[in-house]
Amino acid sequence: MALLKIRKFPDTVLKEPAKPVENIDGSLNGFLESMAQTMYAAPGVGLAAPQIGIGKRLAVIDVTFKEDPKAKLVLVNPEILHTEGKNRQNEGCLSIPDFREPVTRANKVTVKAQDVNGKWFEETGEELLARALLHETDHLNGKLYISHVSALKRDLMKRKIRKMVKAGEW
Ligand SMILES: [Zn+2]
Repeated sequence: MALLKIRKFPDTVLKEPAKPVENIDGSLNGFLESMAQTMYAAPGVGLAAPQIGIGKRLAVIDVTFKEDPKAKLVLVNPEILHTEGKNRQNEGCLSIPDFREPVTRANKVTVKAQDVNGKWFEETGEELLARALLHETDHLNGKLYISHVSALKRDLMKRKIRKMVKAGEW
């Protein structure tokens, strides 16, 4: 199975809100499996379609990183229903490799989403799963985690990235 190319900041596709997926049937299966394999190979615990250049509301998450075969989540058209509490932890993103910054997120999150066959379901996660649900949903809204860090830190990161882009190291 071919791995997909992960787009990096500041690729503009990462800033565009993704479009809802319509007419969901099993035909998305292969693509979502490629997304999951790309996530595992990266390695990462979540990947949203805009990160591979596809402006559709699709994401995969596995915060157990294959340890629990049932933990892999496929989210089609996810929406955050409820958030609760606060949790501050380091966060990273496959589109901004090698950087991590503390980000305050809700500690408990409930989303509703459709599965590969279009069936709606709800999922509630805490801590890392809550963070991943918010991080991937942000991606679908054209938002990166660096929008949750201070302007000072964000500018510093952007400056470092610009340097790496120039040096051909990005
Ligand atoms: Zn990300």
